[in-house]
Amino acid sequence: MAVNELLAQLHEVAASPKKQLDKYLAEGKKVVAVAPVYTPQEIIHSMGLVPMGVWGADMEINEAKKYYPAFICSIMQTILELGIKGEYEGVSAIVIPSLCDSLKCLGQNWKYAVKGIPFIPMTYPQNRKPAYGVKFTKACYERVINDLTVATGAQYSAFALAESNKIYNEHNAVMREFAEVASWAPITAAQRNDVFKSAWFMLPEEHTAIVKQLNAELAACPKDENKVRVLVSGILADSPSLLKIFDDNGIKVAFDDVAHESRQYRTDVPEMANPLDALAQKFADMDHCSVLYDKDKKRVDYIVEQAKKHEAKGVIVLMTKFCDPEEFDYVPIKRACDAAGLMNLNIEVDRQMVNYEQASTMIQAFKEMF
Ligand code: SF4
Repeated sequence: MAVNELLAQLHEVAASPKKQLDKYLAEGKKVVAVAPVYTPQEIIHSMGLVPMGVWGADMEINEAKKYYPAFICSIMQTILELGIKGEYEGVSAIVIPSLCDSLKCLGQNWKYAVKGIPFIPMTYPQNRKPAYGVKFTKACYERVINDLTVATGAQYSAFALAESNKIYNEHNAVMREFAEVASWAPITAAQRNDVFKSAWFMLPEEHTAIVKQLNAELAACPKDENKVRVLVSGILADSPSLLKIFDDNGIKVAFDDVAHESRQYRTDVPEMANPLDALAQKFADMDHCSVLYDKDKKRVDYIVEQAKKHEAKGVIVLMTKFCDPEEFDYVPIKRACDAAGLMNLNIEVDRQMVNYEQASTMIQAFKEMF
């Protein structure tokens, strides 16, 4: 299949998650919603269930305001709004991790606001690397397995989890390869985002098959060299209006440090005798993310290293409004970029943005500095 056909296929999935949900339900599958930032999708997949990402939507918030104060991130607010409005009808359960304060509130609010879809908490330890942290993660995964069985009737088997771990590792590798190929391939910021976004709404084996073909096609394309290359960092970078401003201004996403995108694919499940131990170890091995505790803030060096490796001239931070974990990291990121001679820009974003004039002016000015 040609590049444009493959991209069109992924765009369709990225643009209509509801259609994907209906498709899986029509196939007789049970779907489990997975909230940001990291959810053990491998477990859900191994139990014969379809994990589908929920990251909210660009929409007006009404009902969720009864549960949240205004100063909480709009990703959480719109997930709840969609839940209350019945957009996730047909979903068997939602797994919500506890990786930031907003996420902790989402689970509690969900219990009261969305009665038909059971809430399954996934509590992660703050100290994920020591043996006691890994043990804690594993115990919480066991709780998730139990809750999934209660909610869906699906059963756990270590053999099936070992297989799912391999399927997710393969998907990780293909997505990492895509990020590298896309760095120089002639595709737009919007098309690049479609590839990452569609992954949230497809079974990994289905997505892997398409992205593998896409990687092969893109690798054979001529290099896209005359753009302003940037590394984009943040939680979410999927606003079509914002991505259009990137494309209109000749800004090329050379690489990303976005939670919804590459951060998901950096770490594989290691080979271990027990696949659940291996999955808990994967979480311990993860790094370079605002929601993963790190007193040394190694994420900052990682951003600079990756920007240099991908020949980015600057770093654009898309700062989700009211996201404490990202805000805490911004000052060290800015300092490190300044020291490394990387231009940097901070654009505040949320899911209620209707006017992109300010962002457009900032991006235009940023581009003119090169
Ligand atoms: S990490 Fe930030 S964007 Fe994500 S749920 Fe928490 S506050 Fe919202």
